[in-house]
Amino acid sequence: MAVERALAILKPDCIRKHLAGTVVAHIQKAGFNILSMKMVQLTPTTGGAFYAVHKGRPFYDSLVEFMASGPCMPIALEKENAVADFRELIGATDPKDAKEGTIRKLYADSKGENIVHGSDSPENGRIEVAFFFSERELVEGK
Ligand code: ADP
Ligand code: MG
Repeated sequence: MAVERALAILKPDCIRKHLAGTVVAHIQKAGFNILSMKMVQLTPTTGGAFYAVHKGRPFYDSLVEFMASGPCMPIALEKENAVADFRELIGATDPKDAKEGTIRKLYADSKGENIVHGSDSPENGRIEVAFFFSERELVEGK
């Protein structure tokens, strides 16, 4: 299996609920290497740019408003099969559909406010990590 990068974002609901440390613990326990993480305040413009692929969808405006509603925490991850393994760890978009034990099942309130973002392909993993982090901010190692 290939070593991949994936971007996680601890969304504003995660930070508001003081769950950042708890979710990072899940991520580390699952064997992901954290290359970098930081606190970011998105705006409608920067949040809209990140989620541009969803522009035109009915939930786009509320998604962008939510993502700019408070600080969030992007985390650059690396691991073999990182993208699929991270989506398995977080569970389905709607916490009602997420498997027991997944981060969204454990901590999310709704499909809109679902605690965490995960990249959906290895290509997007690289693009999304680069959206938030320069190469020199990414620390290779364990
Ligand atoms: P995922 O985050 O699981 O990859 P999507 O890429 O389909 O899900 O959607 C991006 C984000 O937009 C979701 O995580 C969720 O916060 C929000 N979202 C998606 N679909 C809906 C919906 N039907 N209603 C409200 N919010 C939604
Ligand atoms: Mg997605």
